[in-house]
Amino acid sequence: MKICSKCLLPENYPHISYDEAGVCCVCRDYEERFKKIDYAEREKSLSVLFDKYRNKGRRWDCMVPVSGGKDSSYVLYVCKVKYKMRVLAVNFDNGFTSVAAIRNLKSITSELDVDFISYKPNFGILKKLYRTFLLKTGDFCPPCSRGVTTLTYRIARQEKIPLIVLGYNPITDMNPREIETIDQKLLLSVAEGTISRKELEDFVFFQPMRILVKRINLPEYVRWDEQEIVRTLGEVVCSEGGFDGEMHFDCIMSPVADYLRKKKWGFGKKVQKYSALIRDGQMTRDQAFEKLKTATDDREPAELEDFMKILDVTSEDIAKVKHLSHLNYKSYNVNFLKLLQKFNIISRDDHF
Ligand SMILES: [Zn+2]
Repeated sequence: MKICSKCLLPENYPHISYDEAGVCCVCRDYEERFKKIDYAEREKSLSVLFDKYRNKGRRWDCMVPVSGGKDSSYVLYVCKVKYKMRVLAVNFDNGFTSVAAIRNLKSITSELDVDFISYKPNFGILKKLYRTFLLKTGDFCPPCSRGVTTLTYRIARQEKIPLIVLGYNPITDMNPREIETIDQKLLLSVAEGTISRKELEDFVFFQPMRILVKRINLPEYVRWDEQEIVRTLGEVVCSEGGFDGEMHFDCIMSPVADYLRKKKWGFGKKVQKYSALIRDGQMTRDQAFEKLKTATDDREPAELEDFMKILDVTSEDIAKVKHLSHLNYKSYNVNFLKLLQKFNIISRDDHF
């Protein structure tokens, strides 16, 4: 199998192409879009942006959606400690929150002394959504993403919070449309016929809210150095769990999601993540190869049995995953939102 001479992306990555030097188009795109970012300039504009929202007579200046993982915890730290924003931390409990994440949430919100809300939707409905997505599209994660987005906009409206600050990093977290799409129209198309609109209340919101509430990805303004983030959080939070765990250790079913992705695409999330870190100068290719030697994402994870029991799916259902695609449900139109992105009215790398 051919792989990029710079990162690790293999030839079965959607729409990949390699130049004469064997460098993939994702690496070339990185050079164009991200390499020249001047973070000193970006931080200045962040400072101006935060000044616009700080102490304007509202109870909270901004909201940070938190999972207990390191990215959102670091967002909380930057907003509260570095920029002295009055922050409301909001957690969406997807029913699979890990013990380590719960411990981190508790310690980071108390250490940083921020207000905190956690909301857990009806697990019966969540399960139905995960199951429907798995059986129809092969990916059970989108309902959780929709739940987080819906909850944050709902609370922003109720509490009149003008700004939502996310830890989504376009450099490491972006996926080709074939691999991941999580927009609201997709949720509605996939749920149709199985789950009622009433049951979808926690997962669907009035889209024009996106214009009324500003939403930014902090890694677009602040250099997102993973080791530095883990080190800083280690100093702030004296949590036993810590933040230096596996990717997405905040969700206990993340090994299952990764296993399914590997089954379907031939490569797991680690290959994508490490490739992004190599491009961004945070890891060498050799370090990535070394780490992948111990990767277990092609082995059946211990959580799979529980997962199948909880969602009431069979081994045959799991085997079918690789033939399924959410692209069969693309009866949605996100052109309007794309236009808003184009003119920077909403974030450029926003998940719809
Ligand atoms: Zn590459």
